[in-house]
Amino acid sequence: MRKPTAKPGEIHQVSDLIYRITLNQPFYAPNQVYLIRDEQTLLIDSGYVESIGALALALKRLGLTMKNVDTILYTHPHIDHITAGLLWTAYAPRTERWGQHQLARDIPDYPDFIDVWQADTARVLTVAFKDKQARNARIRRSNDRWARFVKRFDEYAELGDATQKKAVRKADREIKLNRLLKEGDTFSTGRLHFKIMETPGHNTWHITPIETSVGFAFTGDLLIGNIPAIYDKLDGNLELFERSMQKLLDLRKAYPTMRFMPAHGEEIENPERAIKVVLKTLGILENGLLKKLVEGRKDLLELMESAFGTKIEGGNHFVTALELLEALLRKLMRAGRVGSQVYADGYEEFYMKH
Ligand SMILES: [Zn+2]
Repeated sequence: MRKPTAKPGEIHQVSDLIYRITLNQPFYAPNQVYLIRDEQTLLIDSGYVESIGALALALKRLGLTMKNVDTILYTHPHIDHITAGLLWTAYAPRTERWGQHQLARDIPDYPDFIDVWQADTARVLTVAFKDKQARNARIRRSNDRWARFVKRFDEYAELGDATQKKAVRKADREIKLNRLLKEGDTFSTGRLHFKIMETPGHNTWHITPIETSVGFAFTGDLLIGNIPAIYDKLDGNLELFERSMQKLLDLRKAYPTMRFMPAHGEEIENPERAIKVVLKTLGILENGLLKKLVEGRKDLLELMESAFGTKIEGGNHFVTALELLEALLRKLMRAGRVGSQVYADGYEEFYMKH
C-alpha cells in the first residue's frame, strides 16, 4: 500500500464558515473540495482516493479529524470526486454520504464503473479510426493508461480483493448513500441553508448544492472555466448540459450576488460571461462540424482534425476532444440533422441529412 501523501492540501478560506481545500490528482487540474464548518461539518466532494491523506492533513490543520466530518456530499461520481469518499468508511464509518437519488442504484459496483469508462475509450477510438492498426495502437495506449490508474486505485484502496496479502484499508465497492437528494431538497448545516439543484449534462447524476442564505453555488464539474468533458455514450448529454447551464443563468438572475465555486480551478468571477463563453464555443464547434459535413461524409477523426488540428492527437486531451465532438454529432443526430453509417467493426461515418 502506498503511503498517504505527506503534504496537506492547500487551504483557502472562502468565507467565515467555508474553506476550499485543493488536492492534486493524476487526471486533470487539482480538485477543489469545499469544507462547510458550521454546527454540522459538511464536505462537498471528497477528491481522488490517493489524495485522502492530503485531505486528512488539511482537516487536521483546521483542528478536525476525518471522524469530525458529519457528511460528504458528492456533486457527481467521477473518479476524482468520489473515490476518497469510498475509502472514508475505513477511517470514519459514522460520516454520512449524500448524493443524487439514483446514483447508488445506477452504480452498484464502483470498480465496474471504472471498467465501463475504459471500455468507452476503446469504443470511441473504434468509431474514429478506420485504420485498424492505428486504432489498435491507440486502444492499447489508452488501456495502459487506464491500467496504471486502476492499479494505483487498487493499491491504495485494497479494493476488496481477498487474494491480496493484506487488506489494510478497504474501500467500499458500492456507493453507499445515507440520503438520496432530489431537485429542490433543502437542508441546513446550522447557520447555512442549502438547496439542491439537479444539473445533468457533464454527468447523469450531477447535482449543484446551492447555499441560499449567503449565496454560494457549488457547481462541481458543470462550470469550471472551460468546456467540461461530455461523454455522450457514457454519462453525458449536450442537450441536458445546455439546460443545466440555463438553470445556472436563472439562478444568477434570482440571486445576482451568488458566488460560483467550481470543483476545479478558481472561483468563477463572472458566471454569466463564463456560461456564455462555454455555450458560444459549443456553437462554434457545432457550426464547424456542419460546415465540414456539407463537403461530404466524414469520420470522427477527420472532423476532429478540422476542429482542433492534428497537434492534439499526441496529447492527453485527445480522447476527451473526440468524445466532445461525438457528443455534438449525437445531438445533431437526435435533432435529425446528421446521419451516420456504422460499419461492422464499429467504425462510423457521418453525413448531412437533407
Ligand atoms: Zn466530472
